[in-house]
Amino acid sequence: MTAPEPTTTHVRLRPEIAALPPYRQGRPAPANGFKLSSNENPWGPVPAVEQAIAAAAAEVNRYPDATALTLRERLAERFGVSSDEVLVGAGSVSLLAQFVLAAAAPGDEVVYSWRSFEAYPGLVTVAGATSVQVPNRPDHGHDLDAMAAAITDRTRVVIVCSPNNPTGVAVTRDEFERFMARVPADRLVLLDEAYAEFVRDEAAVDGSALIGRYPNLVLLRTFSKAYGLAGVRVGYAIGPVPILDAARATAIPLGVTGVATAGAIAAMTPEAEAELLRRVDVLARRRDALRAALIAQGWPIPEAQGNFVWLPTRDRTGEVAERLFEAGVVARAFPGDGIRVSVGEEESVDVLLTVLGELVGPSQEWAST
Ligand SMILES: *Cc1c(COP(=O)(O)O)cnc(C)c1O
Repeated sequence: MTAPEPTTTHVRLRPEIAALPPYRQGRPAPANGFKLSSNENPWGPVPAVEQAIAAAAAEVNRYPDATALTLRERLAERFGVSSDEVLVGAGSVSLLAQFVLAAAAPGDEVVYSWRSFEAYPGLVTVAGATSVQVPNRPDHGHDLDAMAAAITDRTRVVIVCSPNNPTGVAVTRDEFERFMARVPADRLVLLDEAYAEFVRDEAAVDGSALIGRYPNLVLLRTFSKAYGLAGVRVGYAIGPVPILDAARATAIPLGVTGVATAGAIAAMTPEAEAELLRRVDVLARRRDALRAALIAQGWPIPEAQGNFVWLPTRDRTGEVAERLFEAGVVARAFPGDGIRVSVGEEESVDVLLTVLGELVGPSQEWAST
């Protein structure tokens, strides 16, 4: 028999860590339903990627290459930098944690918008630093002026998420450049571009066009979303060498597996990548069509530049999420705030539109902001 799970302990833990909410993966989708809660790519790997992963699996008795040199070289070539200006991590969440640890300690502040990526508050707390959350604008985008104004002597890191997870709004190039002009050059700015490949707004910031321009800017990207490799955990950072070196020092060694780098390298080969980017294009169009249809139903959907849309359901969040679940759709609900729905299988779109069309009326309260 297993002992009942203890809910308290006398072991002296860091109180701020013990108080963190436990990670909840979200409910599994019902049979024949749709898991639209984690912004995953609905397609499985292309054959070349699957084969590369299988080949790498045959060598898992060996430790991986600690610096993921081959993948860094491919990425360096792609972005026109040296391989020292690329850092690979076990997903860009790992890299975010590494950069925050490298720059922010107890007493220091990390500024980011809110609502934004759920992982940010925990990463900051684990570093022992303090979160400074700047409310989004009424259009659900970052308020970069307020974020710049929130920088104090204690600020060590500012995280900009574009497109913002979970609201979907991208920061524009002009907004970002104005913002960078206001940020002191000795404070680290992390531009989290996990959804960069889905962006179709020409005015949106593109970190890759800013490489080398700012001594305090690091870009974060991932193979999890557009490249469909969420399960193997691989992401990368591009930025100035001394900052990347500091982040490298905070990593748990050998976190990036050979299976992961083999998958990423295969995904970057021309034939595989062409197919993956074709799929991204299908998802971006599906997203735009879904958003347009929801707006036509009366939903105030903000600009959507990632592979998801945001429903500002406010105090009806629980009810709407439940109705979606009953129809076979698992979405990510943020109680009191809204629901993020990933753009997934083609067949999920009709289900979403049917359910959501029944829930919205011309005078819904959530339409007011
Ligand atoms: C998904 C996501 C990431 C990265 O996820 P990994 O799987 O760890 O690469 C980073 N930032 C945001 C905003 C995300 O939504």
